[in-house]
Amino acid sequence: MELLPRTLFSAEHEAFRDQVRRFCVQEIAPHHEAWEHAHGVPKDVWLKAGENGLLCCWLSEEDGGPGGDLLFDVVVSEELCRIGATGPGFNLHSLVVAPYIAHYGQPSLKQNILSKMVSGELIGAIAMTEPGAGSDLANIRTKAVKDGDAWVINGQKTFITNGQNADVMVVAAQTEDAQGKPGISMFVVTADMPGFSKGRNLHKIGQHAQDTAELFFADVRVPVDHLLGEINKGFRYMMQELPQERLCISVNCQARAEAVFEWTQNYVKDRKAFKQRIADFQNTRFKLASLYADLQAGRALCDSMIARQLKGELDAVGASAGKLWHSEMLGRVTDECLQLHGGYGYMQEYMVAKAYCDARIERIYAGTSEIMKEIIARSICDEPKR
Ligand SMILES: Cc1cc2nc3c(=O)[nH]c(=O)nc-3n(C[C@H](O)[C@H](O)[C@H](O)COP(=O)(O)OP(=O)(O)OC[C@H]3O[C@@H](n4cnc5c(N)ncnc54)[C@H](O)[C@@H]3O)c2cc1C
Repeated sequence: MELLPRTLFSAEHEAFRDQVRRFCVQEIAPHHEAWEHAHGVPKDVWLKAGENGLLCCWLSEEDGGPGGDLLFDVVVSEELCRIGATGPGFNLHSLVVAPYIAHYGQPSLKQNILSKMVSGELIGAIAMTEPGAGSDLANIRTKAVKDGDAWVINGQKTFITNGQNADVMVVAAQTEDAQGKPGISMFVVTADMPGFSKGRNLHKIGQHAQDTAELFFADVRVPVDHLLGEINKGFRYMMQELPQERLCISVNCQARAEAVFEWTQNYVKDRKAFKQRIADFQNTRFKLASLYADLQAGRALCDSMIARQLKGELDAVGASAGKLWHSEMLGRVTDECLQLHGGYGYMQEYMVAKAYCDARIERIYAGTSEIMKEIIARSICDEPKR
């Protein structure tokens, strides 16, 4: 069963895809179950990924990167999803954390950090969410106060992806400008700064190979050149960067859905009941046909969003609509595919069972479905009448 042909990727991207696929088969798949039990991946996988050119592929040579484009990082994400991998979080590191530093970091900071993110020596995380504030980011309590030649950060973050492994964190904190006006600013904190510590590795219902942690900041002195961009402009920067983060969710959801669909097609052609293949029941055929239509639509939407992002044209509403649709589509696909596996679909050793649990978070992180609807609805309902 073929889906829509893709026109975005060049021969060079496809050759890279073969290389990434080999990496996934050799370096990820054989170890993934052990990582699920450990709730995280060892750091040496990151170094191997760096050696193989899998990290921050889009980053310019001037900033210490290989000078590729977003499509190379998309390939890495898709291939990890295709084998059902949930760790390591290369995608967040390369396409969410590194862009904040590359786009808003001062030259000295970029020089110290970015090339080491490309090599995998430094692992990145982004820390916005707190125990008391997730959707309502304006309400965060982590505070940064200027003290001489440093900012002093106090507070707590939770649910931070790559949190246990992270060496470099982009942290959102409350600040006041020189006039005492409050706002949110973004800082780069490194794990070796005194006063910084990591809490529990949080146990989730899915995505078990992904380390997700609490982070604590107790009088962490952060040098002034670790402030990203300007004081109190954190919200503006988040609004500029969030479309790409949400696009990443669309890419992952589409690739995961395609993988689950493929496993399920194979299963229903093997398994028999009432002397026929499960694939011969009209219910199965119609379910798979509907899911196929979803996957076609999903692929077209996903590739058009990637194309818009490549041109710098993907806006907040477009990215939110995509994230909403793809994450909900993955929910439908994993649920229907699990059902077609019967009781085996509920067993952890079946990929579809893991995919079902792994998928649930996609409707929550990087902005919940309700927040996506809120963003889209504002652009529909609060605009003046045409
Ligand atoms: C596995 C995992 C990984 C994560 N990784 C990261 C990370 O790397 N970095 C990071 O900073 N955060 C991360 N998060 C946090 C994630 O982004 C938040 O959990 C998410 O934004 C929701 O915030 P919350 O959990 O505080 O829920 P709340 O904001 O408390 O929401 C609870 C419910 O209320 C609804 N709600 C809230 N406001 C509205 C509204 N205005 N209208 C309608 N409904 C509303 C929500 O949609 C939700 O259903 C992660 C979370 C998980 C579980």
